[in-house]
Formats: sequence, structure tokens, C-alpha cells
Amino acid sequence: MIVVMNYGAGEEQIAAVVARLEQAGFQAHVSRGVERTIIGVVGDRTRVAEMALEAMPGVERVVPILQPYKMVCRAFNENGSVVRVGHLEIGGEAVHVMAGPCAVESREQLLAAARAVKAAGATILRGGAYKPRTSPYSFQGLEERGLEILAEAREETGLLVVTEVVDPRTVELVARYADILQIGARNMQNFCLLREVARVDKPVLLKRGPSATIEEWLMAAEYVMLGGNHRIILCERGIRGFDSYTRNTLDLTAVPVVKHHSHLPVVVDPSHAIGKWRFVPPMALAAVAAGADGLLVEVHPDPMEALCDGPQSLTPENFAAMMERLRRVAAAVGRRIAEPQAPVALAG
Ligand code: PEP
Ligand code: MN
Repeated sequence: MIVVMNYGAGEEQIAAVVARLEQAGFQAHVSRGVERTIIGVVGDRTRVAEMALEAMPGVERVVPILQPYKMVCRAFNENGSVVRVGHLEIGGEAVHVMAGPCAVESREQLLAAARAVKAAGATILRGGAYKPRTSPYSFQGLEERGLEILAEAREETGLLVVTEVVDPRTVELVARYADILQIGARNMQNFCLLREVARVDKPVLLKRGPSATIEEWLMAAEYVMLGGNHRIILCERGIRGFDSYTRNTLDLTAVPVVKHHSHLPVVVDPSHAIGKWRFVPPMALAAVAAGADGLLVEVHPDPMEALCDGPQSLTPENFAAMMERLRRVAAAVGRRIAEPQAPVALAG
């Protein structure tokens, strides 16, 4: 259920509804939109009906939510959520491009990638410091040293940093360095990890599992929201198909469908979906045309030498060319590609 408050309902009225719900044993989650406040109610909905909440001052209506996910459903924020990350807003008019290598391999490699993606117009730097791979013999990431390098790149370029957290025990550590915590596709239903990132004051980029339905994906997001973290960005990264010509199948239908059912912003990762660099730009353009709020793209200064995902990584030149075309597609659909800001000079 959600309780929709009137335009201009006062803080005391909101507090009174929350208090009444909590006294009756419900959990109440307040979401303050630009125009009105909505209170998500978790608990036995047959009992909510008995409480006559609609008789309380400031309450406009009580709406049952029929979907299994309650807080991430569209009705909870009809205008769509805008997720604030530092000085950036994801889910607004501007489309953000997050780009960088699959893995942080060295200081030189990451700084070269960061400078290149910033020059081409990315606003957020990606790079994995923890890389549990399909094979235990593959490169596993630089771990905390990788996080330090990401933080150094942020300081130099002003790009914000998205990086994956793979273990509930390292959530706090990763959150100290990262601006956005990425939950990898294989961890989408790692509920311990979801509960842990829900407790941190950092936005979460939640990737869709390779075989997850849209409902399972939204239920995973519900874990994070219910746990107290409302800043969630969904990421479609391809689902397992039967065709071996691509790594996965990019489910672009997920963009409009998820935006219809949920208020959360949706970004698209064409790199892991397709697995071949040549096909990344056309699908990135299609994702923006379909309404994606951002892109996550792998870019490596020298893809042939990459320790991870070289075949799907764009060179800086190909990335810059893609960005030019993205600006035109974004304009055609009434959006714009966000531009990076100059780094803020530190005082003293
Ligand atoms: C990644 O973005 O580096 C990654 C491992 O992606 P996914 O979890 O989508 O496979
Ligand atoms: Mn990768």
C-alpha cells in the first residue's frame, strides 16, 4: 500500500500518519517528491483498510500495490526518481556515460583511461578492483590498491567513480572510495550483499542477473530500498540467450518496460551484453533512443593488452567517435549527454 499525501501536507501530518502506522506494527517509508509526499506501507494490507487512514488530515488516498515489489514500483514516485551522485543527477534530462576499463590493472592504465573518457565526455569512471572471474586462474583484481588508484583518478579528473563490490565484508571499504557501488550481474540475488549495501549512504548500480526476469530484478532492488537505501540505478547488461555470435542478448525492451513499472533510473551496459567492441556503439545509440538514463561502457587505452574483457573494450578513439553520435541521438529524443565538469580546486 502507499499513502498519498495532499499537495502541501505539513510535516506534522506526515509524522502523524507514520506514527499511526508504526504503532499498528507497520513499517512506513517516507518518500518526499517535488510535489507531494508518499508513504510506503509494508505489512499486512488487509489490516491497513481497517485503519481509516483516509480520514486523517493531509491524506489524499490510500492505494493498494498489486505488484510484489512495493517501494520500487512506479506508483511510489510517479514522476520518476532522480538519483543524486555527488554533483550529478541520474534519471533527469541528462544522460550520463560511465566509462573505463573492465578492471583497474595499474595506475598508468587507469589514469590513461580516465583522461581519455573524460576528454570524450564521460562523467563517471568505471573500473573493477575486485574481479572474481569465471575462472579462478584469471586476473582477480588489485583490490584495495585498485580502489586507491580509482580515487586518485577522481581527484585528478573530477570524474565520479563506480566500482563493483562483491562481498558483504568489503562494502564499507569500497564505499569509502567509490561514489557508486556496483552490484554485479552474478550477485543480483546475493541477498546478504544487497542488505549490506542498503545500509550504506552511497548510490547502488544494480545489474540485472544474466537469467533474471524483470520481476526478479525489481525484487532485488526492493531489498535495497526496503533496507533504507533509496538511491538505486538499474543496469541492463544482457541476458543469456542461445546465440553464440554475441556474449549475451541485450534486452533493450527492459528499458521502457522497467521505466513503466518502476520509478528507478535505468542505464544500459552494451559492452557485457554484446561482448564485441564493434557492436557496442550501435547498441549504445539504440539504448539512448529507447530512453536509457545512462550507459556503462568499457574503454581501455590498449584493448589488445587488457587483462579482462579486451575484445569488448572500445579504444579511446572509438569511444570519442561514439560519444559524438550519442549527442545527436540524445538531442533527437529530447535528451542531452551530460558533460563533465572541471575538477573542484581544493582549498589550501
Ligand atoms: C563489470 O561490469 O565489470 C561486470 C563484471 O559486469 P557483469 O556483472 O554485468 O558481468
Ligand atoms: Mn568487464
